[in-house]
Amino acid sequence: MSLNQIIVEFLMERGAIKVGFANKETLAGGPPSIDLDYRLEGAKSAISFALPMNRDHIRLFLSKKDRSPHENDNIETNLRCKDLSWELAAMLKEEGHLSKGCAANQKYRQDTEDWMLYLHPDLSHRYMAVRSGVGSFGWSGNVGIKDFGTAIMLGTAVTTAELEPTDPEPEEEQFCDQCKMCVSACATDMFDRNKEDSITLGGKEFKYSYRNEIMRCNLCCGGITGLSSSGKWSTWSPGRYDLPWEQEKLVEVAINASQAYAKRPTIPGGYINVVNNERTYMTCGNCQIVCWGNKKETAENVKILHSSGCVIQEPDGEIRVYPGEEAAEKFGRLPSEHQKLYC
Ligand code: SF4
Ligand code: SF4
Repeated sequence: MSLNQIIVEFLMERGAIKVGFANKETLAGGPPSIDLDYRLEGAKSAISFALPMNRDHIRLFLSKKDRSPHENDNIETNLRCKDLSWELAAMLKEEGHLSKGCAANQKYRQDTEDWMLYLHPDLSHRYMAVRSGVGSFGWSGNVGIKDFGTAIMLGTAVTTAELEPTDPEPEEEQFCDQCKMCVSACATDMFDRNKEDSITLGGKEFKYSYRNEIMRCNLCCGGITGLSSSGKWSTWSPGRYDLPWEQEKLVEVAINASQAYAKRPTIPGGYINVVNNERTYMTCGNCQIVCWGNKKETAENVKILHSSGCVIQEPDGEIRVYPGEEAAEKFGRLPSEHQKLYC
């Protein structure tokens, strides 16, 4: 049995749905986050794998019936990806190959002054996954797999072992049919409906949507804002900012909104955000979780999200959900000092 086969078996036995391999040649030409040495000096290969997320919990989250089951599943699956990558690294070390696991999320490069605005990862799980054929890019820029869509989590381990790289998914095996329903699931229009972007890794080009401004996602996914431009639905965030398109103005809003966010009442549950060390809670990820790799199910998910209403936070911290117009009305009746924390 080759080392590649041993690794595939090791990960599949522990719940992975797909496994792939990349090396410095197949990743060549990519951005800094493909640099295996940044994670482990002398690393020669990356092992990429995916775990599925719980769909019933996703539906509860999208409909705003219950946030916690998906939040817990998301955190647990992230932790499972991290743990599994370290379990694999330990197994490879026993085989005589220096290896390291990776955090599945919340691990960012801190070597530029504005790192908190852009949150570049130390290693990109997505690039490892698409180049090694674990999955392919969906229009949203999330990575997905046929029949699973993008409702998956990715994990990566790096090793000094020389593993045989695997090919990207052939077009006929890719899940994304360009339905663009993920675009309608983003409250802040972070990625474009028509404009395309691409990245080249090891001589192969990978395409996905143009990112209009990544900070729009950081503000929304970070829980600071969540009201959609239609005003009819929101994420789980009670924030109601109208985000400007001009970069300078957006940075100004981001700074003021972050300060106001820190003064909001605490919401139960959640996790510690490593960027500001504050307790935060899962409010979005919608572009990722709506796509199930099946047009009918994805359409149902977007329909559920768009009819899920808007979130308001009362001065006592209580989170309430109302239909869009009613939420605007209730929000308008809150004390003005409290309103200032959300818009
Ligand atoms: S919803 Fe899924 S299948 Fe449709 S465009 Fe987005 S990523 Fe592709
Ligand atoms: S995570 Fe939320 S805010 Fe970020 S791009 Fe996806 S849908 Fe938009």
